Amino acid sequence: MPPVRRVLLKLSGEVLMGEKQFGIDPAFVAELAGEVKAAKESGLEICLVIGGGNIFRGMAGAAQGMERAQADYMGMLATVMNALAMQNALEQLGVETRVQSAVQMDQVCEPVIRRRAERHLAKGRVVIFAAGVGAPYFTTDSGAALRAAEMQCDALLKGTSVDGVYDADPKKDPAAKRFEAVTYDRVLGDNLKVMDASAVALCRDNRIPIVVFSIREKGNLARVLAGEGVQTIVQGEA
Ligand code: UDP
Repeated sequence: MPPVRRVLLKLSGEVLMGEKQFGIDPAFVAELAGEVKAAKESGLEICLVIGGGNIFRGMAGAAQGMERAQADYMGMLATVMNALAMQNALEQLGVETRVQSAVQMDQVCEPVIRRRAERHLAKGRVVIFAAGVGAPYFTTDSGAALRAAEMQCDALLKGTSVDGVYDADPKKDPAAKRFEAVTYDRVLGDNLKVMDASAVALCRDNRIPIVVFSIREKGNLARVLAGEGVQTIVQGEA
């Protein structure tokens, strides 16, 4: 784990479901918020990006005959709901939070304004970036890479349901091996399942290390930040 002062934490929407099959489990969101709070109290500046897969994915809509772009806009709205749920949970723990959405929604949150986000971080607030990049045919992974680059984050932490990057799907192949570290080019060349290619390429071009870890295990975010957790780091050649 490289030394970090400011991080972008990306959480897939599905981790907000907890043990449910769909939607938001407020008790689990509160637990996640507790981990974010602890990370912030360790002195980090935190930008958050949350996916929407627990509610709606554009590809799933398209597979059932919807127009892809229309379905993607629904997916973006889902990420705003998740952002508001996380904001609520963080503020209930006393962590000041602002949501900035790439799809403007004046009544519920701010638009994305980089300089304003800087100001929030300087004041000790957590900034949640919602609606990905604000365009269809993208994912929140690309949104996370974009915000990590423009906010000059030292690392992109991807908290998901698997504990790193494997050379094969660990659910299907028991011999699958987890990497401790792997290069951006190997991830792209071997099509390893980390984030979509555009997100990985953006991180590579801006030299942002990607740390993939499981956010489902309690306390794991703190362990990963301390360099102790189980994780895979995606970075350039040593
Ligand atoms: N989405 C989009 N553009 C973006 C970000 C998200 O169109 O910049 C849509 C897309 O349909 C995606 C959905 O929002 O499927 C939810 O995001 P994502 O699949 O990235 O969520 P996650 O898998 O992280 O839960």
